[in-house]
Amino acid sequence: MPNCLWCGARYEEAIRWTRLLAHGRSGFCARCLEKLEPLTEDLCEVCGRDLAALDPRYVKGNVCGDCTAWEADPLGGVLKMNRSLYVYNGLMRDIMARFKFKGDAVLIEGFLDGWRKLYRQHFKGLVPVPVPLSAERLATRFFNQSERLAELLGVPYGDLLRRPRHGEKQSKKTRRERLARRDNPFVLAPGAERFRGQGFVIIDDVYTTGATVRFAAAALAPLRPARICSMTLAR
Ligand SMILES: [Zn+2]
Ligand SMILES: [Zn+2]
Repeated sequence: MPNCLWCGARYEEAIRWTRLLAHGRSGFCARCLEKLEPLTEDLCEVCGRDLAALDPRYVKGNVCGDCTAWEADPLGGVLKMNRSLYVYNGLMRDIMARFKFKGDAVLIEGFLDGWRKLYRQHFKGLVPVPVPLSAERLATRFFNQSERLAELLGVPYGDLLRRPRHGEKQSKKTRRERLARRDNPFVLAPGAERFRGQGFVIIDDVYTTGATVRFAAAALAPLRPARICSMTLAR
C-alpha cells in the first residue's frame, strides 16, 4: 500500500469507479481526495471555472462574467481557453504552498494522471510553455513550479519566455492596478523563433485573475501561433 503524498497515511489505491473517473489514478488517499474538487462539468467555456458555483447573474450562456469582461480587453482575445484540474480551495492552497515554497517537488506527482489526461483531452499537439519566474524570485525558490508542471506532462516543452526584471509582487495589487500597468512582464526567450506558427499551451500552477496567462499569451503572439491556450493545476 502506498503512502498519501499529502497526509502520509497508507491507503488502498482507488477502487471506487466514481473516484477513479473524477481524479484518475492519484497519489493521494481517499480522505484527501474527498477534499479536492475536480473541475469536470458545467464549466465556463473560456476559463474552465465551475459555473454552478457562481451567481447566475454573473453567467452569460456558458461564459462567466470575468471572461465576458476579458472579451472587451485588448489582452483578452489572445487566449483561446483555459482548463484547470481542481478548484483552488483550502486543501489545494495548502498543497500548492508546500509544493512551491517548501520545494516539495514529489508532491505534485500525485496529480500526474489527471494532469496528463487534461492535456490529452484539450491540448494535444500544443507545445507546453511554462510561465517563467524572475531570476530574483527563482533564487528564493527551489525550482520554478510551472516548469515542474510542464515536465510532468511528459511531452517536450518550450522554454520560450523570460521575465527580465522583478516587478512588484502581483498579489499586493488589485486587478485593476495590475491591468492598468500594461507593461508585459514577459518577453520571448532567445531562439523562440524556431517555434513560429505552432500552437501553445501556457502552463502555470494557479489561474487567479487570468492576467498572468494572458500576458504570457501576448508575449508569444509575435510567433503568430496557431492557437494559444493555458492549463493550470488549480482555478
Ligand atoms: Zn491523504
Ligand atoms: Zn470564465
